Amino acid sequence: MRLQAAARLTQPDLAEWLRHVRPAAGCTRPIRLVGTMATVEAATGRLLSERSTADMPDGVIYKPCGNRRAAVCPTCSKLYQRDAYQVVRAGLVGGKGVPEQVAHHPAVFPTFTAPSFGEVHTRYVKRHTCTRRTSCDCRPEPCHARRESTVCPHGVRLVCFARHEDTDARLGTPLCLDCYDHDAQAVWNLSAGELWRRTTIAINRYMHRLATARGIPDVPVTSPRTGKTRWVSPVRLSFGKAAEMQRRGVVHFHAIIRLDGRDAGDPDAIVPAPPQLDAADLVAAVDHAAATVGFTTADHPAHPGGWPIAWGEQVLTKVITVAGRGEVTDAQVAAYLAKYATKSTEVTGHASNRLTGDTIDIYADPAGSHTERLVDACWMLGTPRDWRRLRRWAHMLGFGGHFLTKSRRYSITFALLRNQRIVFRRAQSSGPQEAAAGTEPTTLVVNFLQFVGAGWHTTADALLANASAAMAREHQDAAREYLQTLVA
Ligand SMILES: [Zn+2]
Ligand SMILES: [Zn+2]
Ligand SMILES: [Zn+2]
Ligand SMILES: [Zn+2]
Repeated sequence: MRLQAAARLTQPDLAEWLRHVRPAAGCTRPIRLVGTMATVEAATGRLLSERSTADMPDGVIYKPCGNRRAAVCPTCSKLYQRDAYQVVRAGLVGGKGVPEQVAHHPAVFPTFTAPSFGEVHTRYVKRHTCTRRTSCDCRPEPCHARRESTVCPHGVRLVCFARHEDTDARLGTPLCLDCYDHDAQAVWNLSAGELWRRTTIAINRYMHRLATARGIPDVPVTSPRTGKTRWVSPVRLSFGKAAEMQRRGVVHFHAIIRLDGRDAGDPDAIVPAPPQLDAADLVAAVDHAAATVGFTTADHPAHPGGWPIAWGEQVLTKVITVAGRGEVTDAQVAAYLAKYATKSTEVTGHASNRLTGDTIDIYADPAGSHTERLVDACWMLGTPRDWRRLRRWAHMLGFGGHFLTKSRRYSITFALLRNQRIVFRRAQSSGPQEAAAGTEPTTLVVNFLQFVGAGWHTTADALLANASAAMAREHQDAAREYLQTLVA
């Protein structure tokens, strides 16, 4: 590697190379593209200029991988996390095209958990005295302290007097692996998305009923296409949610639910909810839905009659306030959801890409560890054609959903933020003659690029690009600190 580094460092175009790789510099596995980029006059389609990657350093363009997972690419996941924060927060306080009055809409922050599939080692702190929950060092209760010890059919004493440290690898693993219902948990993960969908419908219905009971009339909405008028609920809920994989290998959902009204004249508009309904009503709606929604899956050859799917013990629903005096603020909630959006199954000790018949045996074992048994359950139960999705998502322990989702009207999109960033970069890099051209774009850049590979050519290249990105970041931080001292 020293030779690779020496070769790169002695090249005359090193500065040019560093400038060229800058957009992807901090990325672990950038995408390499070859082809041409044409600049075209927007009005006529006339070709103004054309550049080929053949004339560029290394003959390729490096594009950041954009992976959201911190375990895969720390740099790209940081960017994703920042975007996720913006997306979630805009839904609570407005901005970037979301009306600012959403800050006054009632909003709540419930956590939906899975039921128990068997007893696991836990860490429960009665009263936290730590300053930061992420580095909690409070004294927990004993894990499973019981006076009369029960022995399971497999001869395991179902007790544990340990007070587990937060980093204890036993946390989330079953007291008895053979008692644990890995099948039911895998199917629950697979069905969590459908359970969530039904829950949102139930919450909407509850709020509609409540609105009617409080004398708020339905709203006539006319379809612009058919001209037909329908009477619909005067309230509409917008949802954002993050999935968190728990140590025991089951997802739970952290959700944001915002109450909006409905404008008969403009059905797409985000308008305030009727004043007769508030956050306490939303809490009641969530509690009701969480306690009542449930269904049974389709039959499975290994489990005739299917599995029941419902939420576990309902966790408390907090009311979100924009000012700091409520139970939880918009900024806290946004940071929370953004953090989970960059995670996956790492906390369970399992991390792999999609599994195939060739790789399954590395990760699945019906007599192995907790996660090996979960992966095995996904693979085995995924054998029938109708259950193939379990195989497809075996590397996610059965969960096939996105880790961050939102309803259409909740907030802005990630694409909007990405586009703004590109426009910003263009403005930064364009010369004075281009900047003077006005706001209307007169030229278009059309790319004819082709994927040729992923990753840096050599380890030395990766280190060099990373080091230069780190230095640029430090430089920015130093400059920001300097400005802050000037302001203070
Ligand atoms: Zn990356
Ligand atoms: Zn324990
Ligand atoms: Zn604590
Ligand atoms: Zn047992």
